Order: sequence, then C-alpha cells, then structure tokens
Amino acid sequence: MVEPPPNQGRAWWLREALAAEDAPPTPPLAADTTADVVVLGGGFTGMWTAWFLTELSPGIDVVVLEQDICGGGPSGRNGGFVNSFWSGLPRLVRDFGDRAALELCEAGEDSVRAIGAWCESHGVDAWFRPDGDLGVASSEAQIGAWADLVIAADRLGLAERFRVCSREEARRLVDSPVVHGGLYTSFGATVQPARLARGLRRVLLERGVRIHEGTPVRRFGAGPTVVAECPGGTVRAPAAVLGLNAWASHWRRFRRTLTVRGSYIVLTAPAPERLEAIGWTNGMGLWDFRAALHYVRTTPDGRIAFGVGGMQPDLARRIDPRYAYDERCLRVAIEDLHRMFPTLRDVPIEAGWGGPIDVHGNHLPTFGTLERGNVHFGHGYTGNGVGPAHLGGRILAHRVLGVDDPVLRLPLVDLEPKPFPPEPIRSTGMFVANRAIVRRDRAEDRGERPGTVVDFVARLPRRLGYDLGP
Ligand SMILES: Cc1cc2nc3c(=O)[nH]c(=O)nc-3n(C[C@H](O)[C@H](O)[C@H](O)COP(=O)(O)OP(=O)(O)OC[C@H]3O[C@@H](n4cnc5c(N)ncnc54)[C@H](O)[C@@H]3O)c2cc1C
Repeated sequence: MVEPPPNQGRAWWLREALAAEDAPPTPPLAADTTADVVVLGGGFTGMWTAWFLTELSPGIDVVVLEQDICGGGPSGRNGGFVNSFWSGLPRLVRDFGDRAALELCEAGEDSVRAIGAWCESHGVDAWFRPDGDLGVASSEAQIGAWADLVIAADRLGLAERFRVCSREEARRLVDSPVVHGGLYTSFGATVQPARLARGLRRVLLERGVRIHEGTPVRRFGAGPTVVAECPGGTVRAPAAVLGLNAWASHWRRFRRTLTVRGSYIVLTAPAPERLEAIGWTNGMGLWDFRAALHYVRTTPDGRIAFGVGGMQPDLARRIDPRYAYDERCLRVAIEDLHRMFPTLRDVPIEAGWGGPIDVHGNHLPTFGTLERGNVHFGHGYTGNGVGPAHLGGRILAHRVLGVDDPVLRLPLVDLEPKPFPPEPIRSTGMFVANRAIVRRDRAEDRGERPGTVVDFVARLPRRLGYDLGP
C-alpha cells in the first residue's frame, strides 16, 4: 500500500497558481467601512458575483470578505471539471419539464464557454481545455448506467450530443483495464481551478473591488442595512451576497437543507509517456458511474489528478481540518487510482488534499434571497460548481441590482431543496448510508454482488427522495 503524501497545507493547484503569480494576500479588514454590496466568500460564487456586479454597474463599490485567501476553499482545490447540468437531464426533465430542463442545461453550457472566453480576454492562463468528457462504467455493474440519459436525450432530439462507446471505443480514448464502455460528450472542459480563482481575484482588484483576505465574518446582522462583523472591523451595506459553500451549513437558515461531505484528490508526478501509452493526451475529463464517483483528469505536463467523491472523514458535523487532509480518504484515492491505471503504480504520488462538498438533497444548487430581500445566497452545488458558479454569479448580480435577465427564470432560482431529517438522525443516517454506498461500490469494483443489507441501506437515500451525488 502506497502511503499518502504528507499534508502540504494547500492543494497542489493553489500552490502552483501562487508560485506563478506575484500577489501578496490583500490586507485583512482593519477598520469599519461601508459598501454598496458586501460579498461573503472569495470562491467562484462570490467572485463571479462581484465580476457581474462590476459588469452591470461599473464603479459599484463591492467588498469581498474571505476568511482565508481567494481560492483557498474548494474553488482552488477541486477537480477542475467545468460542466453544465446535462448529466442530470432525466431528473431535470422529471422535476421541471422539458423546456425548463433544456434552458438550464443550455445556460450551464453557455457558462462553460463563457469561462473559456473570459480567460482568453483577460489573459488568465487557467489551462482551459474544452476537450469534452467521458463517463465510464468502471465495473460491470455500471454498464448501461447511462441509459436514462440517452433515452431522455433521444426523446428531446439531442441524441447526437451523447455518444455511447463500446468497451473498445472507450478504451481507445483512455486505455484502462477497468473501463467497460461509457458515454462521451464533446461539451465540458477542464481548468486549473486555482489559476482561474486567482485570475478572477486579479481582475476584480484591477476593477476596484475591495478584497479583504484573512477576514472571517464572525457575525452577520440582517436588516435594511446588513452588518458583517469581522475581527478588525465591520462592513455595512444595503445588500449582501453569501457565497459560503459548505460553510453555509453552519447558518441556522440553511442547516436543514444543506449537508457536508468530503471529496479527495491525489496527484501523480509528471508521466507524459505513460499517458501517451494509454492514449490519453488531451484535456478530456474522465469520470465513472459509481455512487461515490471517481473523477480523473490530466495536466499539460502529464500528471493525473484522481478524485474520489462521497467521502465522509467522520461523523463530523463541522467543517474541520480533516476535510482538507485525511490519510484514510487519500489512501482510498491512491488504491482506486492504481486499480484504474495499474501502469502508473510506480509513478510517485506528489500531492493529496481534499475539501468539503455542499450537498443538497436534490443535487442542484439554489440561488435565492432571504426574507428581507437584500441578502442573496448561492450554494448546494453538490460537487458540480465550477461551471455553475459562473451562472450563479450572473443570477446573483442581477438579483442584487434588480435588473432583469433570462437567467432569473431558470429553475435554480429560489429552488427549495428537500430538507434533511433533523439531527442527530441526519448525521447518523448519512454516515450509515455513506458507509453502505462505499461498501457496495467496493464489492462491485471486485466484480461481486453487494450483500442484501448493504444494498438496501445504500439505496435508502434515493428511496427517500434524496439524490446526494458525489
Ligand atoms: C475535492 C473537490 C473536488 C471537486 N471537483 C469539482 C469538479 O471537478 N468540478 C466541479 O464543478 N466542482 C467540483 N467541486 C465543487 C466546487 O469546487 C465547488 O462547487 C465550487 O468551488 C463552489 O464555489 P464557492 O465559491 O461556492 O465555494 P468556495 O470556493 O468554498 O468559496 C467559499 C469561500 O467562503 C469562505 N468562507 C467560509 N466561511 C466564511 C466566513 N465566515 N467569513 C469569510 N469567508 C468565509 C471560504 O473560506 C471559501 O473560500 C469539487 C469540490 C471539492 C472539495
């Protein structure tokens, strides 16, 4: 068993991005101030919102408060898959109808393209590679898991957008012995996520947005004027945006609808010759149809970043340091990497890290407004936020300014996710179901059938109407 690399503090992506720039942290808030809009959270949601605010209202005074540095959260730690909502098409059609489902998927796809164009026009080298992605069956049990999606696409006249690949076809794209076929889609991209986050930060600073890093918001007061209290001072503003991701689950208002899981990534040393040998030399994303999914991508210098979703470091209800680094979860990621790519077994693992996932019971983010009308929020990406946070930023900026836009009529706006049961039933139930899901996936990886009890418990969340995703 290969030992995980030591805790390096920050994700490799962010260390790489910071080494490529010359930008010290912005100073923490050190005095009371006012602003037109105060944004909590310097990740993609908060920063894309700030970006759209400056687009819509040049000269607007926006303050961003980030407890760490911009991109220090999941925005600078994720797998870098930039996706729309197409993989959820059957569920979207069921919940919202054909037209709204298609509008949402297309708006999500516009965001994928817009992120690439934005990088281009702002000189941000975020390694944007629009090479599509391949969802594969990584065990025989997953074969055909794409059937509902293909049927839905067919019915909507979109069949040509999804290419079902036989085992041989899929292995021509990525030659792994565990690939049993899959579904290729040409839309979807990958990025170096921390370079994107840091690029956004640079552009916002150039536009006059005031960013205070190292500035945790300790108390937040709603009212006609919102008050964000931080250790060094207070920001008062007529409007606020909460882009807090999983940390929003600590807020009473979101406690029932948002829960937290972990996702972990290991990164190999460069091995371009091994990637060439398995035929994977572009920026295509690879993922599988496990319940606790694997998501895998390459880097321009020939590394593999291998991610595992659906992890729970513990029965934890608070976001603690284990979400950023957990040896047990990283060991699982290494083991699974070597199962999928045995020819990379002797390639050193250079980094490993994780981050919290903001899980909604319906697997979709929501962009809404609190009762008083001047505090807006966006979260619940359930592991798919890199592309959708751009769309979310556009929605939230229009909401803040009261400017109409077609995106305000998308079904994610004011979507009320299904509440989870109250504590302690929720955490205990999630923990037990999660363990069963992992055991079922493992049994299927070995080509075995899971036990009846394990299978029953693993299916419970779905039977109860929850789609927890990765
Ligand atoms: C390991 C991992 C892999 C992932 N892979 C993918 C992927 O490949 N593709 C994809 O689409 N999505 C992926 N995701 C999800 C994606 O990263 C998120 O959905 C996205 O980054 C959400 O952006 P955000 O701005 O809402 O959250 P964040 O980036 O988490 O930003 C929220 C910020 O709020 C700050 N904050 C919290 N509380 C406070 C406070 N009190 N005061 C001040 N600041 C505060 C945090 O420090 C954080 O920086 C992954 C996530 C993880 C953890």
